[in-house]
Amino acid sequence: MAVEYLCKVCRGHLNVKTSIILAASKLTNRSHRGLIYLNPEIGNYTTTTHPSFKIREGEEYIYTCPICAAQLNSMKYLHMVRIIMIDEDGKEYNIYFSGIAGEKCTFKIRGTKLESKGPDAKLYNRFFEVPEEDKKYL
Ligand SMILES: [Zn+2]
Repeated sequence: MAVEYLCKVCRGHLNVKTSIILAASKLTNRSHRGLIYLNPEIGNYTTTTHPSFKIREGEEYIYTCPICAAQLNSMKYLHMVRIIMIDEDGKEYNIYFSGIAGEKCTFKIRGTKLESKGPDAKLYNRFFEVPEEDKKYL
């Protein structure tokens, strides 16, 4: 079984061939929108868009599911976008990445297990890390 990526709302498959396909629009100008292809390899931040839709570093984007049009940006964690990943063993994870273009960070979460990747993960660690004082109870 291959790794699958699903919409958190409709659970439709977002990965086609070698990309995760999402619709994106610029937060400050929603008419600036298009499809974005993300690399499904965690820690690889290569993206592909049509030449008419240029992603600007430092700008925040709203990501939506191309199947059900639901917004994928997290309501809970500012600037984070969430999709679901199912690994080769059928285990399900929440994947969070930054909605701000150019920020390289990914969080892979299942229950209390957290994996973080990317040089900018430190910007958001506080959202996901278990507080020091709770660690002794784990
Ligand atoms: Zn959907």
